[in-house]
Amino acid sequence: MNALFHATTAISVAVLLTDTSRIEQACTSKNRIWTSVFAFFVGIISHGALDYIPHCYPINSKLDAIASLILILTTIWFTNKKYRLIIGLSFLGCIFPDLVDLSPGIINKLTGFNLPINDKLFPWHFHEYSGSIYNGECDNSTLNHSLIILTCSIICWARRSDLQKLFGRDS
Ligand SMILES: [Zn+2]
Repeated sequence: MNALFHATTAISVAVLLTDTSRIEQACTSKNRIWTSVFAFFVGIISHGALDYIPHCYPINSKLDAIASLILILTTIWFTNKKYRLIIGLSFLGCIFPDLVDLSPGIINKLTGFNLPINDKLFPWHFHEYSGSIYNGECDNSTLNHSLIILTCSIICWARRSDLQKLFGRDS
């Protein structure tokens, strides 16, 4: 699936898992670190679910990479310092499977290097489990992409007080 959908999902994973009042009450950063680790693994799982469902690639790959990078960097920039590790590891988890399985090929293509391309590690990138559609019949894909955006929006709305604290400034 386009990286932009994985990056958008990362924001809702972080919002869903971050209990800001518990973190703010705690005297140590243990809770924050555990939430970050948890967000990383939930991010990987969400990547698997998104790649498994039927999907086309509505965004051109170069534009997708640039837009995702901008989204990731600006979101981290606007995140309250206390929560940057959580949001950072959530982004990393959500794009990690593509970094592992796809980046050597992309680097080779862009730079002319000859990095070894290993077999894919994550099962949702195997041909038989991936939901990638290449025959142009993208109605299901459009529905699935819309449901992802809707789900992320509902999570952010339902947990809006945590969302505000994640991106708010300390008073
Ligand atoms: Zn993937």
